[in-house]
Amino acid sequence: MRVLVVSDIHSNLNALDAVLQDAGDFQAIWCLGDIVGYGPQPNECIERLRQFDLVCLAGNHDLGVVGTLPLWDFSPDAQLAVFYTRHTLSIENRAWLESLKSMTILNDYGITLVHGSPRDPMREYLATPGIARHNFNLLETPICLNGHTHIPRVIRFPTTTVKPEIAMFSLHLDLPLALTPDRLFINPGSVGQPRDDDARAAYGVIDLDKLTFVQRRIRYDVAGTQKLMRAVELPDRLIRRLRFGE
Ligand code: ZN
Repeated sequence: MRVLVVSDIHSNLNALDAVLQDAGDFQAIWCLGDIVGYGPQPNECIERLRQFDLVCLAGNHDLGVVGTLPLWDFSPDAQLAVFYTRHTLSIENRAWLESLKSMTILNDYGITLVHGSPRDPMREYLATPGIARHNFNLLETPICLNGHTHIPRVIRFPTTTVKPEIAMFSLHLDLPLALTPDRLFINPGSVGQPRDDDARAAYGVIDLDKLTFVQRRIRYDVAGTQKLMRAVELPDRLIRRLRFGE
């Protein structure tokens, strides 16, 4: 079974649709949160995702929009996007966001899904080996897929060496990473607002038969998304950054 792994879509339907087209055959989607926030099309992104066999988590922006997370957690630009999203969301889509969990363990596959980290699913950025070490201790499965940093990256804790060193690295695109024997945090990057100086939408595909993860990037209609953002008067900085993936 091939599963599309996406995160941090942030209401960017052009980017999401490019990913769905590029991914080829897949049987399910696992979404690691932040479906909304920043971008212009929150309803459309939720409705597109829900057409698929879907496991979906809430991210901090999703919970900011429904009011579970306080707004002082967000930058001024992000707050403006939260207000826009609240104003735009349908009642049904808002209720759906409210129903999402922030972490889930898929026992059948030995995989945890989380937005931030096992220690703090909403807020913590799995950004350094030190932070990763604490979180490997809390992890109940060999593999964890996480989002939130908007940077595609793998953190590996080797299980076959006597003195294991945590390693953080980026994957070569399209080159399968074996999911065994090491313990792994895998972040597929952001679909709708990449922040690694690469404007292309980022996502991953897990093959649960071959036990591999593949990192992918795909160009999308950035200008089209920017135009929609301008039309609804989202902040300029949020519009500009999409072009550079910053
Ligand atoms: Zn995000």
